[in-house]
Amino acid sequence: MRHKKLFFLIVILTFNLSFSSVKDLTNEFKNKLGIEIILDTTVVSTWPLVHYKKPSDYCRLETYLKILKFEFEKYPKEYFKNIDLQKIVICNDLKVKDVKRAAVPDPEKHTLFFAINSNYNRSYLVHVMHHELHHFTEDTLWDTMYYKWKRWNRKNIRKFEYSAGGHIAYFDENKKVDWYTLNNPIKGFLNLYSTTGQEEDRCEIVALMMHDSKRHLLIELCQKDGKLKRKTKLMMRTLDKLSDTKKNYWRYKVII
Ligand SMILES: [Zn+2]
Repeated sequence: MRHKKLFFLIVILTFNLSFSSVKDLTNEFKNKLGIEIILDTTVVSTWPLVHYKKPSDYCRLETYLKILKFEFEKYPKEYFKNIDLQKIVICNDLKVKDVKRAAVPDPEKHTLFFAINSNYNRSYLVHVMHHELHHFTEDTLWDTMYYKWKRWNRKNIRKFEYSAGGHIAYFDENKKVDWYTLNNPIKGFLNLYSTTGQEEDRCEIVALMMHDSKRHLLIELCQKDGKLKRKTKLMMRTLDKLSDTKKNYWRYKVII
């Protein structure tokens, strides 16, 4: 009986500690990055097919917010203001219709949705955070998340054509395809997923640029693949311009 009481006391104490830590973390997001963290279901996505639930596990929430804060604090000071990201919704069971998603960028609502209830490892979560943030950024750059940039296309091999977009990876017939291994399948491309659309190509490059434990893989591939190097450099110049970082902030990160 005594053990039972002790167990419940520990559960309550852990919950309270996580609860106050989550509160501190959300305040820090607001004060340092100017982003509001939303933990309820009040934000309705632009797309009616997007739905989600409130997060329930405060320990998981605390861990996720710590990672997210560390990763997003890597961006230059003015970055989030320049791209007008105002809210991040942290949720469970994020879906587009019936398809589970780890994240959904919603520039129209100045919001990014992130789901935290899957058992992804830290490295995957970090990749998703930067990849999805860059989808959001593309909308600020081009007024659409699906911009076809001629200058970008010219950096690819002759006559290369992208597939119909990242969504094709979710098709039943493509579920067994290895989309994400960094195997440089075609000159200029990190992985097969990068070949599904220009926007995915750029999001994958930015995700690796920002990922502390994967960045060296991008650098190694750029040393062997001049086309990938030219695309990565173009991305760095584009982000420098967007962030008003006159000291080549991005080029200090990725030396190629
Ligand atoms: Zn994507």
